[in-house]
Amino acid sequence: HHAMDIEVRIMPYADNQLLLIARDVTQLAKLERMRKDFVANVSHELKTPLTVMQGYLEMLDEPEMLPARQVSKAIHEMSAQTTRMQNMVSQLLELSRIESSGPETFTDEVNLAAIIRSCGKDAELLNQQKQHQINFALDDSLTVYGNADKLRAVVSNLLTNAIKYTPEGGQIDISWLRRHRSAEFKVCDNGPGIDPIHQSRLTERFYRIEADRNSATGGTGLGLSIVKHALEAHRSRLNLDSEVGRGSCFSFILPPELVEQTQAANSREPA
Ligand code: ADP
Repeated sequence: HHAMDIEVRIMPYADNQLLLIARDVTQLAKLERMRKDFVANVSHELKTPLTVMQGYLEMLDEPEMLPARQVSKAIHEMSAQTTRMQNMVSQLLELSRIESSGPETFTDEVNLAAIIRSCGKDAELLNQQKQHQINFALDDSLTVYGNADKLRAVVSNLLTNAIKYTPEGGQIDISWLRRHRSAEFKVCDNGPGIDPIHQSRLTERFYRIEADRNSATGGTGLGLSIVKHALEAHRSRLNLDSEVGRGSCFSFILPPELVEQTQAANSREPA
């Protein structure tokens, strides 16, 4: 049962009477709370790296007192914090750009298979130390109408997450295939999996699971909210099928009206 926010006004009516007007402002109040939370979150997220940087700067104020090893550690750490803030700001900008663009009519033809391959290459950099086995099943004949930048953001965030959160030697399966008249993208990993209590909240801005929040190599918690909004623009949504200890499958389906329906693809016969 949810609480309701009510705005009440009382005004004089006829003789000896008062008029009471009650308005349900639950939705408005909720939006206002979300806005305030958002500002608080951004401030907090930026404050942490700045505080860390401040500490190192103070330490470096008298570098002749420090062993060289400490100096280089401080510089390395400050550089990591700067990168973190840069990522956060660019993700915030991307999120606000994606959120503020209204409903779209798409005319661009997008070959998502090519985008997936190129994101896969970028993700390989991340993968170098991890030695995951990454498998692709991509239909190159599948053309969709959409916004290539937004779809790239979706794929890139989902692939990066799969690699980031799956421990060394994991397996990652990526597919982009026709499903009747629609098209489905799917990335499955055999990483830690996600508890049901977190699953529905993952696309909230800044939401991270506690264990990841505490890890030093933290992300921003903005990736999946970018994914959510970019998919909404394509009349699609993010699906998650995950079990703790077994892994996670993130997927989305693009509706038939955004998928090019070719005769050849429908009636292709085995050679
Ligand atoms: P970020 O990766 O920057 O923390 P995201 O919004 O992309 O933010 O993801 C939110 C959270 O969801 C992550 O912090 C992580 O806890 C969890 N998560 C995302 N993808 C996976 C995955 N493939 N396996 C396990 N946990 C995941």
